[in-house]
Amino acid sequence: MPELPEVETTCRGIEPHLSGTRVQALTVRQKQLRWPVPDELATQIAGAQIRRVHRRAKYLLIETSHGTLIIHLGMSGSLRIVDDTLAPGKHDHIDLHFGQGKLLRYTDPRRFGAWLWCEEAVDQHPLLASLGPEPLGDDFSGDDLFTQSRGRKLTIKSFIMDSHIVAGVGNIYANEALFMAGILPLRAAGRISRMRYARLADAIQTVLKEAIRQGGTTLRDFLNSDGKPGYFQQSLNVYGKANDPCPRCHAPIRETRSGQRSTFYCSRCQR
Ligand SMILES: [Zn+2]
Repeated sequence: MPELPEVETTCRGIEPHLSGTRVQALTVRQKQLRWPVPDELATQIAGAQIRRVHRRAKYLLIETSHGTLIIHLGMSGSLRIVDDTLAPGKHDHIDLHFGQGKLLRYTDPRRFGAWLWCEEAVDQHPLLASLGPEPLGDDFSGDDLFTQSRGRKLTIKSFIMDSHIVAGVGNIYANEALFMAGILPLRAAGRISRMRYARLADAIQTVLKEAIRQGGTTLRDFLNSDGKPGYFQQSLNVYGKANDPCPRCHAPIRETRSGQRSTFYCSRCQR
C-alpha cells in the first residue's frame, strides 16, 4: 500500500512534468474507484493550467486555474508519466493529457483510490479539513502529541495512526518509529511521558525522511513506462520481520495482529 513517502516521491516525480502545462483532455476508462470519478470532471478540468502539484497527508493535490484535483492512491494506485502513444493496460483507468506527447497515467488494480475535484479552498474539503498537522511540517511536535494524548486509553500505535492527531503516518512507519523511540506499541497513549513523546516525534520524522530519501533513489521506477509501477523497497527494522533477530538486541521480533493490521516490536528494547 502506498504510504506517505511513496506519495511524496510520486509528487516530486510528477511535479516538474506537470507544472505550467495545460490540461488537454482527461480520459476516464473506469470511473468506479473508491468513490465514482465525477462525470463532469473531464469537462471541468479541460483547458485548465496546472499551477502546482503538492501533497497533504496521503492526498496528491494538482492545483489548476479551474480548481484542484484531489488524488488518493488507495491500496494499489500509482501514477506515471508516459508517452501518449502507449496503449493502456487493463488497470490503467485514467489518463490526464497535458500535451508535449505525454500523459499522466493512473493505474489501480484494486480500485480503492480516488480522483475528486474541488473548486473551493481545498484545505476546507471534507476529506482534508479535519486532518492533523503534517508530520514533516513545522507545527508537528512531541509536546503537541503529549498534550493531546492526556487521558487517552487507546494504544500509542493507534494514536499516532489517527489522521486527526498527525496526518499520514501509516502502519509501516508507526511500527518503525515506535521501535526507534523504544516505545511499546501497545502502551496506552495517555501513559507516555513528555520526554518520550519528544523522542517519538523525532523518530516519526526520521523514518519518513529516510524512506523519502530512499524513494528518491528509485524515482525512475515511478516514471518508467515499461517498468512495473511497484512501490520502493525500504530497509525496515521491525515491520514484516516477525521472529527475525532484533537489530539492536537480537531477541526475536514479535508480531501481534488486530484486524488486518500487524504490530511488530521487540519486547526487550521497547517498553
Ligand atoms: Zn531488541
